[in-house]
Amino acid sequence: MTSPHDELVSEVRRFAVSALDDARTEREGVISQTIVSKMCELGLFGLTISEEYGGLGLPLGVVCKLVAELARCDRSVATMVGLHAGLGTHAISQHGTDEVRAAWLPRLARGELIGSFCATEADAGSDIASVRTTAVLDGGDVIVNGEKSYVTNARYAGCFTVLARWGTRSHALVLVPRESKGTSIGAEEHKLGIRASSTATVLFDDVRVPANHVLGKPGAGLELAHEALACGRTLMSAGCLGTAQAALLRTIEHVTTRRQFRRTLGEFPAVRRRVTELAATFHAMGALVAIAAKTLEDDDTIAVKVFASEGAFEVADSAVQLHGALGFMEDTGVCRLLRDCRVTRIFEGANDVLLLRMAMSRLSANRVSTRVGHEACDALAEQLDHAFDCARTHHGATVVQRQSLLQALARADIAHRAARASLGDGTSAATVVAGFAAQHWAERGMASIDALARDDDAEQRAILISDLIYAIARPCAAE
Ligand SMILES: Cc1cc2nc3c(=O)[nH]c(=O)nc-3n(C[C@H](O)[C@H](O)[C@H](O)COP(=O)(O)OP(=O)(O)OC[C@H]3O[C@@H](n4cnc5c(N)ncnc54)[C@H](O)[C@@H]3O)c2cc1C
Repeated sequence: MTSPHDELVSEVRRFAVSALDDARTEREGVISQTIVSKMCELGLFGLTISEEYGGLGLPLGVVCKLVAELARCDRSVATMVGLHAGLGTHAISQHGTDEVRAAWLPRLARGELIGSFCATEADAGSDIASVRTTAVLDGGDVIVNGEKSYVTNARYAGCFTVLARWGTRSHALVLVPRESKGTSIGAEEHKLGIRASSTATVLFDDVRVPANHVLGKPGAGLELAHEALACGRTLMSAGCLGTAQAALLRTIEHVTTRRQFRRTLGEFPAVRRRVTELAATFHAMGALVAIAAKTLEDDDTIAVKVFASEGAFEVADSAVQLHGALGFMEDTGVCRLLRDCRVTRIFEGANDVLLLRMAMSRLSANRVSTRVGHEACDALAEQLDHAFDCARTHHGATVVQRQSLLQALARADIAHRAARASLGDGTSAATVVAGFAAQHWAERGMASIDALARDDDAEQRAILISDLIYAIARPCAAE
């Protein structure tokens, strides 16, 4: 089925294939002004900004496709655009006053300014509610003080959406222009991957901005930050889709041409099976991204973030493995895909923490899994509902301490979502792939459920002896 946005997707693909060079951006550690200017011409900085303010106002599903196209060719560039379209501009678009929107969005849409989001601090990572940066009303102004860590787009940014403490108990999101007196950028971080994506500390020293730069209701900053994160996670997952596609296509090309033992690698059953599983993962990733982009529900965006970041890493890691020594060589670029996607399991919420949040949310909502008339999927749904019931009844309120159990439950829930999403509407031309992917993820989910009891026991044993283990492990590691 064609969509009115297909031409734009093709245009961005042509641009990405012809103009992006991830080896070069990685080597130089910077995204060149030529690339940024070309992206401005294509409207890539106005994807999520409404037409009223000069953007393209595209549905998030289409924006995801475009970010995936960029990520296939350069993950740093995709990170710049995805962060700008999500976390960097979401709260301004959704919660800025008319005046603030009119002053900022047109420039952000044109790419004259690039957006960025500052929540993390040295002592506030996964626990963003504990930020120490403050925003204090002073007449008609707000004064911001604090230091934010690991800010993506910092070097390129024209404005920052800053999460700050507001009074003693609540938070505010504040728009801080880069040129505001007292704002400064620290040195670039040296990273494992996405090396041309800028990451730096941003300092706010008595920075004064007009009071209308508080976005949305003052005091509601944390909720607004979570809302922006749901959008950001979805776009980041779309980037993972691009990375996985690049890795998968290169792997298929390689295993169908490389010969060993007088056959192509792809003629060996184990290789075939691995590639098929990678394709199933890729298929499920795409289906989950489409769902999250439509609903932006917390659970859908967490599920896709965890699934896509782990999926991309799995596909990229297998790509390195199936390329053999070539996969380990810089020239082929396969190991860059692996390096570039590793961070996605950490930023926009560490996966380990998101899994806990997802399981607790389902436990408290008492939600049951949807049945879809697919045997393996529905069998998993039944086991999953049973496992959640057991966790609820056996552990009661203390379930919050059973972290491995919660993480395993959330993983099984995500596998079920992946299986269900893979089936799509059943009319897709790729029905065979959909069926295989659904079966594959239903089986993976079932294996997760089977491991639950063992994991729960093991976790309890580990907790009981953890002091001892730490005491032994420390000197062992130091030797
Ligand atoms: C390249 C890069 C770009 C980034 N860009 C931005 C940005 O633009 N804006 C921004 O605000 N931040 C950004 N970040 C920060 C990022 O969002 C945080 O790193 C992330 O939220 C995790 O926080 P932390 O690093 O402090 O890890 P910590 O919170 O210290 O956690 C470390 C690990 O401990 C475990 N853990 C933590 N809490 C729990 C728990 N409750 N239960 C069980 N296990 C737990 C998890 O395994 C976790 O991975 C970026 C980070 C990187 C690496």
